[in-house]
Amino acid sequence: MDETMSLTDAMTVSKPKPPVAKPAFDLGEKPSLIGLTREEMAAALKEKGVPDKQVKMRVSQLWNWLYVRGVSDFDAMTNVAKDMREMLKAHFTIARPEIVEEQVSNDGTRKWLLRFPPRGAGRPVEVETVYIPEEGRGTLCISSQVGCSLTCSFCHTGTQRLVRNLTAEEILAQLLLARDRLGDFPDRDTPLGAMVPAEGRKVSNIVMMGMGEPLYNFESVKTALLIATDGDGLSLSRRRVTLSTSGVVPEIFRTGDEIGVMLAISLHAVRDDLRDILVPINKKYPLKELIEACRAYPGLSNARRITFEYVMLKDVNDSLEDAKGLVQLLKGVPAKINLIPFNPWPGTNYQCSDWEQIEKFADFINAAGYASPIRTPRGRDILAACGQLKSESERMRKTERLAFEAMMIANHGADD
Ligand code: SAH
Ligand code: SF4
Repeated sequence: MDETMSLTDAMTVSKPKPPVAKPAFDLGEKPSLIGLTREEMAAALKEKGVPDKQVKMRVSQLWNWLYVRGVSDFDAMTNVAKDMREMLKAHFTIARPEIVEEQVSNDGTRKWLLRFPPRGAGRPVEVETVYIPEEGRGTLCISSQVGCSLTCSFCHTGTQRLVRNLTAEEILAQLLLARDRLGDFPDRDTPLGAMVPAEGRKVSNIVMMGMGEPLYNFESVKTALLIATDGDGLSLSRRRVTLSTSGVVPEIFRTGDEIGVMLAISLHAVRDDLRDILVPINKKYPLKELIEACRAYPGLSNARRITFEYVMLKDVNDSLEDAKGLVQLLKGVPAKINLIPFNPWPGTNYQCSDWEQIEKFADFINAAGYASPIRTPRGRDILAACGQLKSESERMRKTERLAFEAMMIANHGADD
C-alpha cells in the first residue's frame, strides 16, 4: 500500500452524528420532497389535499426553499403558512442523510461517508462523496450506486458488489449536503428572492465519478442532474457537470439528448484484448461501438469535447505504442485526454506507472495536439482519489433481511 495512504493522517472533523429527523433504521420513512420533478411534486401535494389552483405556486415556493435556499427543515420556510407547514411535516421529509464520517485530507479534499435507508437492501447503505477544491473551482464527485456491478480490475469500487441503485433524492442529497457543509447556501438573513451568485460558490462543478456506473441507473441520475442544472434552483451550468461512464453504449446518446451534460469515457486501453480485462464491459460493447457512440454524442464540438480517462498502469497500458494507439483511436473525435496516475488500494496487484513514463506518454499525446493534463491525485491519504471509493455496505441475504426487518418493526413500530 502507498505510504501516503494512512487514514490516521486524515483529520476527522466531525464525529458520527445521530440522524436529524429519523431513526437510523426507519422502515416506514416519509417520502422526501427532494429529488422529485416539478410534476411529481405537484402530484404529491395534490394527493395530500393542496387545492388545484394553489399547486403551481406551492411547487415554486418549495423549489426555491429547497434548491435556492437549501433548507432542510419545513419550519425555516417563513413565507409558508403554519398549517401548510404542519401538513408538509406530517407527510413528507426534507431531511439530509446521516453523515457517518467527514474526513479532510492534507490537501483540502473532503470525503463524506453518508448513510441512507435500506430501500430494499435489507440494511442501511453507505456511500462516499468527495469534494476537491482547486484554484478557481471546486468539484464534487458524486456516487450513483452503492457498489458497482462492473468489475474493472484496477478499481476499488469494483471489488464491492452492487448493493442497490441510489434514488434521485439520494444522488441530489450528496450535492445539498456538500453545499450545507461548505457554507454554499445563503444564510437565513439573506432577503427572500435573492439569488446566490454562481461565482464564488464552493461547489462549481459536479462529476458523476464516485461509486457506481451512472448509466446503469439512468433514470435517477437523469432526474437528479436535471434538478441540479435547473436554472430556478441549484443552477449548475450543464457544461460544469460531467458524467463518466465505463462505456454503456446504448445509454450514451440519451445522456447527451436528455440530460445534456458533458461526457467522460473511462477508456484505459486502446486494444480490445486489453480493455476486455481492464474494463470488462468492453466484451459487450467493444471499442469500435464505443467510439461510434462518442462520435454521435449530441452537442459534440470543439468547444464541447468528450474527456477520455486513461489510468496509467505500470507495464500494462503505458507504452509509447499505447500512446500512438490512443491518438489513432481518437482521430476526428473532439476529445480531451485525462491521464490518471493509478491510485493504489489495499489488495490491488497493479502499480502506478513511473513518473518518467507518464511524462513520456503525456509528451507524445501533447505532440499530437492534445493538451493532455495529467490529473494530480487528490485526497489519496483518505482514500478519496479516483477509484479508491468503497463502502462496507453489503446486500443481506433474503432470510437475514426478513429477520432484521421483523426485529426493527418490533422495536420501532412500522410507521414511525
Ligand atoms: N463507473 C464510472 C464512474 C466512476 S468514475 C466509470 O467507470 O467511468 C471513476 C474514474 O476513476 C473512472 O475513470 C475509473 O476508471 C477511474 N479509476 C478507477 N479506479 C481507479 C484507480 N485505482 N486509480 C485511478 N483511477 C481509477
Ligand atoms: Fe464500476 Fe467505474 Fe469502478 Fe468500473 S471503474 S468498477 S464501472 S465504478
